[in-house]
Amino acid sequence: MRPARALIDLSALRHNYRLAKSLSGCRALAVVKANAYGHGALACAAALDSEADGFAVSAIEEALQLREAGHRQPIVLLEGWFEASELELICRHQLWPVIHHHGQLQDLLQADLSQPLHVWLKLDSGMHRTGFSAADYPTVWRQLQASGKVTSLTRMTHFARADEPETGRTEQQLEAFEQATVGLEGPASLCNSAGVLAWPQAHGDWIRPGIMLYGASPFGFPQPQASQLQPVMQLDSRVIAVHQIAASEPIGYGSRFVTGRPSRIGLVAMGYADGYPRHARDGTPVLVDGQRTTLVGRVSMDMLTVDLTDLPGTGLGSHVRLWGKGLDAGEVASHADTISYQLFCNLNRVPRHYQD
Ligand SMILES: *Cc1c(COP(=O)(O)O)cnc(C)c1O
Repeated sequence: MRPARALIDLSALRHNYRLAKSLSGCRALAVVKANAYGHGALACAAALDSEADGFAVSAIEEALQLREAGHRQPIVLLEGWFEASELELICRHQLWPVIHHHGQLQDLLQADLSQPLHVWLKLDSGMHRTGFSAADYPTVWRQLQASGKVTSLTRMTHFARADEPETGRTEQQLEAFEQATVGLEGPASLCNSAGVLAWPQAHGDWIRPGIMLYGASPFGFPQPQASQLQPVMQLDSRVIAVHQIAASEPIGYGSRFVTGRPSRIGLVAMGYADGYPRHARDGTPVLVDGQRTTLVGRVSMDMLTVDLTDLPGTGLGSHVRLWGKGLDAGEVASHADTISYQLFCNLNRVPRHYQD
């Protein structure tokens, strides 16, 4: 069988969830949207079931899968509903929708609900993607409170730059949140992973860790709290052929890489159809039998090539790690002008194996 696979360490996932809880001391929604950032939502939710205070997903389809699998915790729909017809199922399965715009507000006010809902009301505190303006927020909050359609209202916002502590933007958003929600009761939820790790003053009552659960840091620099995370996904394969190539010879499509010396080139069963980024540059780090070397040449659909010249002990069958323990996915991502989130979400074709 083809040796490419993703090994998912569920005990590392639990370690990271516990770290989020211990840093904040508050309730934590495990964000398992987008198939748990490529890690497998059902397996990840099962591994966290006995301790997760709740889950968060981006759409009702994902929430229903969790309910079918038997998860009884609160499940927050981070974008609420997309069509008012979803409200019936939201009620029946006791899902907790975010309301982030006036269309949803009208849907709810006009709906004939079988029971009132736990609603998370989103404020646009400066990111300008979702949420009610500071001017509208208190009115909307009071309208909902008086509507008889909600049992609780959680005050929610989202930070645009919590991963960039020096910009001053998070302080401004925090201030905007406090001003717009002053006098409005209810739990508060502001923090994604970067907020959990770097903004203790913003923890509120519910945190919403996503990427940190999967062991990747949201920061582009070393950060003390993030250094305690354990990678969950190991993307692994093997060397399936080795070639000795003379100096000044091109390797792979488009001849992007040309050997500067006589080189031993390893062919690895991993390509962009597996989710490895095609834009990874020459020099992107790769581990072969635990030793660092680099990608050379363009990534193709099913294969990529690495330089084994300085790793004489390696060869046919050598173990290759593309990211995971020993090789930070964020570092690989930076060589492909992206972020670990996208590497994980793009995972494709490779079978996932779970270890607990
Ligand atoms: C995805 C998402 C999160 C999790 O973000 P991370 O950066 O992965 O921790 C939190 N809150 C909202 C509203 C989200 O959409």
